[in-house]
Parts: sequence; C-alpha cells; structure tokens
Amino acid sequence: MKYNSPRIKVLNKQNILKLIHDNHPISRAEISEITDLTPSSVTRLTKELIDEGYVKERGTIGKNSPGRRRTLLDLNKDASISLVFDLGVNVTTFGLGYFNGKVSLSGSFETPRRPEDFFAKVEEIYLRLKKEYRITRISLSIPGMVNMLENRILLAPNLCWQDVLINDLLDVDVPVLADNEANLSMMAEKYHSKDLKEVKEAVFIVIREGVGTGVLLDGKIYRGSSFTAGEAGHMTVDIHSDKKCHCSNKGCWELVTSINWAIENYRGELQGKNAIEKFASLKKKTGNKKFFEEFAKNIAVGIVNIVNVLNPQLIILGGEVQDLGEYFFNSIESEVKRRALRDAVKQLKIRPTIFETVSSNLVGAAILAIEDIIEKVK
Ligand SMILES: [Zn+2]
Repeated sequence: MKYNSPRIKVLNKQNILKLIHDNHPISRAEISEITDLTPSSVTRLTKELIDEGYVKERGTIGKNSPGRRRTLLDLNKDASISLVFDLGVNVTTFGLGYFNGKVSLSGSFETPRRPEDFFAKVEEIYLRLKKEYRITRISLSIPGMVNMLENRILLAPNLCWQDVLINDLLDVDVPVLADNEANLSMMAEKYHSKDLKEVKEAVFIVIREGVGTGVLLDGKIYRGSSFTAGEAGHMTVDIHSDKKCHCSNKGCWELVTSINWAIENYRGELQGKNAIEKFASLKKKTGNKKFFEEFAKNIAVGIVNIVNVLNPQLIILGGEVQDLGEYFFNSIESEVKRRALRDAVKQLKIRPTIFETVSSNLVGAAILAIEDIIEKVK
C-alpha cells in the first residue's frame, strides 16, 4: 500500500476515532499528546469527525482555571446503529448495537432449522426496523466457524450447517458481518472490562449447547490460518470414548462440558422444551451442589489443556454457566490449579463474564460493526 499524504490523513483520522472510542471522553490536547499529531491537525480531523456525526463535544474540564479549560470529545452513540443477531442453536435473539458498544435487546425467535429460513427472517426484521432506525450494518454471532473474508459459515456443528455463504442468502443494502460467538464474546470483554485493559492473553469459553473458545493473544483475537482457531470444544479429552460428537470425532471436551451433558446426566425431572430451558430449570433446583461440582471438574479438564498450551492470565466463562455462583467457579479454579503446570497458573484468574442481561456475543457483534465502521472512515 502506498502511504501518500491522503492515505496518511485517513489513517490519522481512523486512529483518532479509535482513540476517542477507547478513551471517551477525551480532550483534543490528550489526543495530540498520545498520537504525536500537532494540535492543529487534531483540531482539523476532530472537526471532520464531528461534522460527519461520529463524535460530539461534551462539557469541559478545568473550569476553575480559564486558561486551561478543555472541551471533552465524546462518541455520538447514534452515529451508527447495527442490527445484531445472536444465532442460538434453539433460540435467536436480536437487538440494536450503538456506536458506544452498548446493545438494546429487541426480540427473539425460534431458530429455523434451514439457513434459508433463518436469513429470510433476518431480512424481514431488518426491513421492519430500518424504517425506524438508521441501521448501517447487520452483524451476526454464529455458534461455529466463520470464514470472515468470504462471509461463509464453515461449520456450525450443533445446527448441522456447513458451507453456508451468507451473502447468497441475505441480499440487503447494508454490509453484513459475521464471526464466531466466542470470538465476539472475547471482543466484548476486551472492549468493556477493566481487567482486560492490561491483560493481553485471555480466553473466553462459551458454554451452551456446544462449547467454543475465543482466544486473545498479544491483545488480538487469534482466528488461525483458516478461521478455525479456538475450537477447544473439539479437543479430545477421552481417547477411549465411543460417544460421537457433531464434529464427527469421538471423545470431545464439548461432550462432557456442554449443557447437554448436564441435562443428560442429571437424575431427575427437568422442565422446558429445549436444552436452554431445561438447563435453566436445573439451575433453579436446590441440593445439586455435588452434581455441579462434577460438572465443574469436567470443565476444568479442558481449561487445564488450554492453560498448559496458551498460558493466559485470564479465563472468562460465559453462556449458560456464568450465574452458577462462587462455589462453582471455586471448584473449577481449584481443580485447574491442582492439574495444570505450576508456572502456567501462577497469574491465572478465572471469572464469569461481566455481561448479564445482554449476552456477551451480542455485544461483541456490535463491537465487530464498530470496528468495521472505523476501518471504513475516509
Ligand atoms: Zn467434536
């Protein structure tokens, strides 16, 4: 790429918008200090960002010393709105993602079995909501592997979807983005969590009908050479197992860690018409501490493998297990510390995701849209 002057200007502008994004509210003087750009360049570029509606001025600091009064720049949360979908194996939820990384929930529907029917539903919702909101992106969280260059769902094992080319099935007038749900969850945590400001190696584990992991290495999501990295749910933890996995292998970690394991192995009645509802009813029952401790041990076995390979500082658990309480997380942590390499767990922390009402991957889908918007700023 040729770095001529207009190109450098665009890169500086993108840099400033990213900086405002990560540190808002922020003053022009601070931007100038961090970026090494002259105050006049910062003034010119931030004016463009204000005129284009991405940024707005908000209050001042240093009121008592007029000479040092600084106007703060903040994000305009309505600058760009994305329509975000959390494609679940049983239920899909959707909402609106704002430019400040927040998401408001709009609704949910039973996930159709055929990709054609699912994307017809997505289109219908988009056409309905675009009358009300200035939607500039559709962003999808997928429970499987996604080739982001081709917008192709390579494999969503628990839906039995393979090689689904999204743009063939969804013909809309805005860009469509998609990524794996665990990657998006990791992105959401990186964007919103305080303890991830310094941490550069972390893994987000989504436990639902399947199990996926989002891997953060050197501060970036690691997707692998062909977008299949982080499929830790399909690492073999039992070489003698005869139980077949959706991925066609046997003995996968997912088979003893997904909520389906808990439902199948629980001795008692569970209410609900799908796995998520049944697991929710299991969580509400009392006297299951021993059962959940066994479940925690299954989860810990996979975490030991992840920790021994990647040596992260932080493991985050999300999906359907995040609200299982302190004893559950303590059980996982003590088992991991007992089994993993001593030096691999020295700094390790294991915690639930910070997202409670809106799922981490739905927030991540909004972040994916924001990153795309910043990348396309001219
Ligand atoms: Zn598998």
